[in-house]
Amino acid sequence: MDYKIRTLIAGWLYLGEKEPVHAWYIEGNGIKVLVDAGMPESKIVEKRWKTKAEGGGEDAIINELKKHGVMPSEIDIVILTHMHFDHAWNLDLFPNAQIIIQKEEVIHAIKPVPIQRSYYNKELNVKLISRNQPKNLLIIEGDYLLKDGLEIVFTPGHTPGSLSVIVNTEKGKVGLCSDLGPRYQNWFPADSEISNNPKRFLEGSYLPNTIHTENVMNYINTMEKFMKSVDIVIPAHDDRIPVHMPEQWWGKPSMSKDPLEVFALKEE
Ligand SMILES: [Zn+2]
Repeated sequence: MDYKIRTLIAGWLYLGEKEPVHAWYIEGNGIKVLVDAGMPESKIVEKRWKTKAEGGGEDAIINELKKHGVMPSEIDIVILTHMHFDHAWNLDLFPNAQIIIQKEEVIHAIKPVPIQRSYYNKELNVKLISRNQPKNLLIIEGDYLLKDGLEIVFTPGHTPGSLSVIVNTEKGKVGLCSDLGPRYQNWFPADSEISNNPKRFLEGSYLPNTIHTENVMNYINTMEKFMKSVDIVIPAHDDRIPVHMPEQWWGKPSMSKDPLEVFALKEE
């Protein structure tokens, strides 16, 4: 069974440099799925997290879904790749959907490693665990086959309960890896087409997210295993992500390609 994927821009964060926050809408096989629920409104981010932001909030998700002819009330399932505030915020938009999350992530959201405390939010935790199980909240352990061609895989690394999603399309398997490798340079660290500062010594390997909870050797193994199980990998915070998949299909973006050209494709 094949699906279509649409990239949604949930907002922008200025963490060193300006970076987009993405979510994904998946449609096919009679279901409508959202991967991640976006970030808070920029005003809230700036006030609580002291980080400059743009866009965000429920409006961003509503407007982005609208571009693809969908309303939040039509979403059947929301997969939360993890509970960081920029991925799991706008749950009120989906009172009737089933949220799917990894058990380890729920535990970590309640008692995170101290270095990650600021990425979680108590009110968000309460919202999540107050939902009816399993109708509106399905807590999974390990991998989970959601539907034929739509697989949720347990990819701890960035957080202990991080999930990725593997989606069959008519061109091949798309790996929505979220923050396991938040940018293309995490997946192609030695590639001069990907970054101005290629790390040649990482040829044939991967660069874990600097924000991580897991042992780095295990983390790299998880990235390697994930990369082998998909045809293209789609990170959460790169600004060169195709909007329409499989129609737009790049295994990795090219630095030699004019970024405006990439953005033009995004506006299609
Ligand atoms: Zn994160």
